[in-house]
Amino acid sequence: MVRRITILGATGSIGQSAACVIEADPERFAVHAVTAGSNAERLAEIALRLNARKAVIRDPSALPRLKEALAGTSVDCSGGDDALEEAAGEPVDMTLSAIVGAAGVRPTAAAVRAGNTIALANKECLTCAGSAFMALAAEHDVRLLPVDSEHNAVFQLLQGKTMSSVGKITLTASGGPFRGWSKARLAGVTPEQAVAHPIWSMGAKISVDSATLMNKGLELIEARHLFDLAPESLDVVIHPQSVIHAFVTLQDGSVHAEMGAADMRRPIAHCLYWPKRRGKPFVGLDLAKLSDLTFEEPDVDLFPALRLAREAMARGCGAETVLNAANELAVASFLENRIAFTKIPDIVDMTLEESDRNGLLNEPGSVDTALELDKQAREIAARMVLHNQKPTS
Ligand code: NAD
Ligand code: MG
Repeated sequence: MVRRITILGATGSIGQSAACVIEADPERFAVHAVTAGSNAERLAEIALRLNARKAVIRDPSALPRLKEALAGTSVDCSGGDDALEEAAGEPVDMTLSAIVGAAGVRPTAAAVRAGNTIALANKECLTCAGSAFMALAAEHDVRLLPVDSEHNAVFQLLQGKTMSSVGKITLTASGGPFRGWSKARLAGVTPEQAVAHPIWSMGAKISVDSATLMNKGLELIEARHLFDLAPESLDVVIHPQSVIHAFVTLQDGSVHAEMGAADMRRPIAHCLYWPKRRGKPFVGLDLAKLSDLTFEEPDVDLFPALRLAREAMARGCGAETVLNAANELAVASFLENRIAFTKIPDIVDMTLEESDRNGLLNEPGSVDTALELDKQAREIAARMVLHNQKPTS
């Protein structure tokens, strides 16, 4: 059976890895729509490579370039937020949600409302709108298949187990490029250093999150919602080699681990083929060469983002939404060279405190309410950025 797929965020790191998986098995997959933010040329190229029926660009000013690049082909082109949401809401067998940031929430929610199975890479659906997003998926009887490597590992590890037999779930973290650095040295980190991840090749935003360890904090929140776990049952361990992606510790003391090469095509393929499996690996794992697998506690003094995420989880979804929004804005400001690397968690902390003082941390009752709170939190975070900017030279 051919599986019809839409890729939201087709030009990104996940989108391009998914294109490799699909291209390698053209008999099995048919691509309905591909979308992107503003890179019209790359979107046109992917649409042609994957033989997609539709290409949608969010930035309407890039639509003429998309049309020009796809002139004379049968690919249907459109542009703007509404066109993107409309295409996302068309029924297909599976939607790969791979837009970066809270911008991915509305289109993914549209795909859920259409009843599409979701291969979920965009973590902000759950970090911005956690309980409300899970409730929407339940209402439409839609399955969320986790693409994020750690959650994909947990998803695989939980097969055939009852949740009552599970004691703890541990996500691994590489520790990022600045593991073991001093606080003073961290303050001088440049955007170029922060986006150069030692193991994983990813988009800029998630690379910075990996460097602050906020990515692992966001992943705890994701895991909490995906697997309906109490925050106390979730743990993080630093594992710089990134060979093991997660552990499930059972009540009887057995510890089950999932291993695999640090290549996102593996978890992406796991979701795209689900419930079947791809017949061969993209990259194998040579066990005899794994002489040095190490594990250590995360340093939450050096990387306070992980502590902030844990505190937000304990306070509930309103705090998670604010944490996610403030972090997105702070990371964007850091990438624009407006604030120091070490200010990212400070901005998040201050935004959470100010939101609390303003009585904003109530649980959002719907995806739309979460997005409203996301907007308010960004306004507060923007003020915090202004007060904490680097002096202009
Ligand atoms: P990326 O920056 O490489 O790509 C993002 C995609 O989203 C691009 O196609 C871009 O055009 C599109 N986009 C950006 N802004 C948009 C907007 N406002 N509206 C519509 N489309 C927009 O990001 P990525 O690394 O591929 O990550 C995508 C998502 O997957 C993120 O949520 C990330 O946290 C998650 N994720 C990524 C990885 C990874 O290895 N890259 C691993 C786990 C989870
Ligand atoms: Mg991950």
